[in-house]
Amino acid sequence: MAGASYNQILISRAALCHNYRLLQKRAGHKARLLAMVKADAYGHGMIESAKTFADVGCKDFGVAEIKEGVQLRASGIQGNIFIFLGFDSSDVTLFFDYDLIPVLYDMKSGETLSREAVKQNKEITFHVKVDCGMTRLGILPDEVEQFLTQLKELPGIVCTGIASHFPRADEQNSSHTSKQFLRFEKLFATADKVQNHSLIKHTANSGGILYFPQTCCDMVRAGISLYGYYPNGITGVETEAGEKLQPAMSFTTRVLQVKTVPAGIGVSYGHTFTTDDETRIAVLPVGYEDGLSRSLSNKGEVLIHGKRAAILGRICMNLCMVDVSRIKGVQPGDKVVILGSQINETICGDEIAGRMDSISYEVLCLFGNNNERKHIE
Ligand SMILES: *Cc1c(COP(=O)(O)O)cnc(C)c1O
Repeated sequence: MAGASYNQILISRAALCHNYRLLQKRAGHKARLLAMVKADAYGHGMIESAKTFADVGCKDFGVAEIKEGVQLRASGIQGNIFIFLGFDSSDVTLFFDYDLIPVLYDMKSGETLSREAVKQNKEITFHVKVDCGMTRLGILPDEVEQFLTQLKELPGIVCTGIASHFPRADEQNSSHTSKQFLRFEKLFATADKVQNHSLIKHTANSGGILYFPQTCCDMVRAGISLYGYYPNGITGVETEAGEKLQPAMSFTTRVLQVKTVPAGIGVSYGHTFTTDDETRIAVLPVGYEDGLSRSLSNKGEVLIHGKRAAILGRICMNLCMVDVSRIKGVQPGDKVVILGSQINETICGDEIAGRMDSISYEVLCLFGNNNERKHIE
């Protein structure tokens, strides 16, 4: 590639493997660990991350849309690939061509799938998504029995699993998840009876695996925890009694220019920051286009020479300014850490998310999906 970017996302394969093994241990040997690799593996690179998980034994992968599943399969990933957000009927042949498993939540998709199966003289399996508390995708509890009974009559398609999703499993000490799980178990029993007790059940996300191990069932679907973050942020890190997850992503850049300005000088668009004293400013080639949210203007920090430097003024599209007055000898070309560790300091995704009033999930997607990425050992 001609002309490398100043900005580099590094993904640690060792951290991904560590997290996969740790979560598999926590989920117990009875539960398969499905790797959620939607959103380009939360910014970590879908194909490379899936290959890394496959290397340590992963046989189940989850994505949002069918085109992601096609890419995964075409890249050589084996095992089960689940498509969680349904499909447009014009894409139905892709499930057969690429051996993908749809997760259904409406009758129309079932009928489309069945028609194609009959046409191709093939049988295809699917899972059903039920909604018992998330109020997002899924069949409502009252409709599950009838839905499955109707689907069972359609030729060429076979239900093999029931899925649900927890809205509050990141709340370690809340009783909500256990209650919702009981509802799910009841629903599952009804569904499983319709299918002559052949179904697998799965509902646990990262919060379920970490905080409600009784919900792990036959399969768990880990997302954020595979990438090294706790669904409840810093609290999760601080309350972890056992071996910790390891963040896999780091984000570095370089100093472009350094300058000293006197007191009373406005910095960046709108002059939302004015210097109090003589200030040494480093200009960095990172802006909101690179995922450094504009909401971090006058709030964020970065690491240079292992020390924290505050972002001054508004973050621009491709640039931002930081205060290096108290960091000796900063020069153009010096390494800057936006996310990760340098010497004895660390800036993690939860810290950045906190300043943005968001969660690590969004920070990882923003950084990872807007910069050059490299997977390293
Ligand atoms: C994203 C997603 C998950 C993973 O959630 P995490 O909180 O990242 O572990 C699990 N199940 C479904 C259906 C999802 O969409």
